[in-house]
Amino acid sequence: MPKVLVVGAGAAGLRVAKLLLDNSIEVEILEASERVGGRVWSITEFADFPVEAGACFIHGELSLLAHSAQAQNIPFSEVEGSFQYIFQGKLKNHKSLLQDPCFKDFLEFREAYHYYEAEESISSVADFLRKHHVPNAYWPFYAALVGAYGASLKDVDMSNMALSSQNWPDGAKNFRLKRPFSELLAPDFTAVQASLRYKKVVRLVEQHESGVRLITEQGEIFEAEAAVVTVSLALLQQNFIQFVPPLSENKQTAITTLKMGKGRKIFLKFKQKFWPPSLAEITGGSVAQEYWVEGKGKNSQQAVLTAFILDRPEPEELLVSLLLAELASAFGLDLETQLKPLFEKSLDVNWGGSPYIQGLYSYPSVQAHRYRRALALPSGRRIFWAGEATDRFLFGTVQGAWASAERAASEILESLR
Ligand SMILES: Cc1cc2nc3c(=O)[nH]c(=O)nc-3n(C[C@H](O)[C@H](O)[C@H](O)COP(=O)(O)OP(=O)(O)OC[C@H]3O[C@@H](n4cnc5c(N)ncnc54)[C@H](O)[C@@H]3O)c2cc1C
Repeated sequence: MPKVLVVGAGAAGLRVAKLLLDNSIEVEILEASERVGGRVWSITEFADFPVEAGACFIHGELSLLAHSAQAQNIPFSEVEGSFQYIFQGKLKNHKSLLQDPCFKDFLEFREAYHYYEAEESISSVADFLRKHHVPNAYWPFYAALVGAYGASLKDVDMSNMALSSQNWPDGAKNFRLKRPFSELLAPDFTAVQASLRYKKVVRLVEQHESGVRLITEQGEIFEAEAAVVTVSLALLQQNFIQFVPPLSENKQTAITTLKMGKGRKIFLKFKQKFWPPSLAEITGGSVAQEYWVEGKGKNSQQAVLTAFILDRPEPEELLVSLLLAELASAFGLDLETQLKPLFEKSLDVNWGGSPYIQGLYSYPSVQAHRYRRALALPSGRRIFWAGEATDRFLFGTVQGAWASAERAASEILESLR
């Protein structure tokens, strides 16, 4: 029976391994950390419900995730409740902002950017805002919109963002699960469990005529007919894994041209809710692009807000004090006498500093659309590629990781036939 080594046990690695096993291929999955899931990580110790350190939304009613949740009887529902905005430091609701022509321009941009046609001298969304004289006070709304791609206004490319959203196949609705998001990976995990090897940090991938040889940080050697690499783009960019022979020029250009944002989620637990019961999300902050009511739709009364923060280097304690100050001002509360006494604890999940991920997810940067295919192409006859960044249309999502796994599995099956 031919054997394939899978590097990484995130959504892509688990799925590709399962598909290969289903086709009578022996697999061994080498995972650097002590857990499966990678950027899917439901933490159960922080509150009386799981907080989602990584993926938390099912993006799209047509997505593979929605089908999988249905098939597993995992209840999920559309994100409901009020969406509020921080504007010039104060909380505003949608209705009150509708009087403002610049806010209306933002809403129009949100609806229409899919149809954007390239303009001279515009690359990033920030270029677009400058060229169209959008006042600075409104930039945080755009930053929150673009922040969903895990990157800032100056990093996301207008044309590639438009292209990505035009080609997005999975529908516009967003859902949250009532149970831990990691349950979506459970069927794959169960199927491949016996083939998982934890704490195997692959540092060398060597390809020769008849197979592959992988060497870990600890010097262990694994051999097989082929390997599939599913590690994050950021790790590839740091040459964390050495390839022998070296990767083609085209592959290396793809690795350096594509981009992945850095960021973190900080969970803030309070003794009680100081927000209206209907609140679902707040956008437009300057410390956090977005705040979510983490337990929304879950069976809990505990008061947890998630702050989604892009690329800030400050230590947790300092960031928490900045977040509390932003929230106090937004809600018109006195920081010292009203908000701080309600604050209980925080949890900082910094993906940019996570050793085996090193970032959030890939985003629509300049030329990204063109280079995803090059990132996905097999290297020689023995090395295959999967992972969210390799999917042209669904990058940055769990369904993207799954779709990439399906592609890689069929390439491997074809080549081993
Ligand atoms: C904060 C955040 C929020 C997100 N929100 C959503 C969302 O709401 N909805 C959504 O669909 N998606 C979301 N995503 C994106 C989604 O989580 C990812 O696209 C997807 O999980 C990536 O899966 P993957 O298998 O490609 O990579 P990963 O999950 O990164 O898996 C790669 C695995 O490889 C391992 N590894 C790395 N290096 C080595 C090595 N050298 N040797 C062995 N193993 C190695 C890693 O430990 C990891 O387990 C979010 C991501 C983040 C970080």
